[in-house]
Amino acid sequence: MEGVLVTGTAKAGLEGECVRCLEPIREDLEVTFQELFVYDDIRDSEGAEEDDEVSMLQDDLLDLETVLRDAVVLALPFQPLCQDDCPGLCPECGVRLADEPDHTHEAAIDPRWAALTKLEQEPTD
Ligand SMILES: [Zn+2]
Ligand SMILES: [Zn+2]
Repeated sequence: MEGVLVTGTAKAGLEGECVRCLEPIREDLEVTFQELFVYDDIRDSEGAEEDDEVSMLQDDLLDLETVLRDAVVLALPFQPLCQDDCPGLCPECGVRLADEPDHTHEAAIDPRWAALTKLEQEPTD
């Protein structure tokens, strides 16, 4: 009566980085969307106030861009991970822990004491 109800499915390819280890991520995303596009002459006749939230038909055409973009953005993972239990990077050396599950260091040196190690190695008179 007042417009055209559009229902659809869209497929999109995602590219991003794991928030923990920066590994590139590629995923396929499928979203569904539904939006009512109101006839613009109806809105004119009602003298409705400007409302950017309302999608309108323009000369019998509808512009899906905003609807699609909103649907895809909402479906994006807030914190994309390469795997659900990604262990991230080693805080000491930056190695990707998923690649080296057994990665360890000798007892970590407190950065505040690191300068002393240097002194120790310098020859003393
Ligand atoms: Zn990761
Ligand atoms: Zn390390």
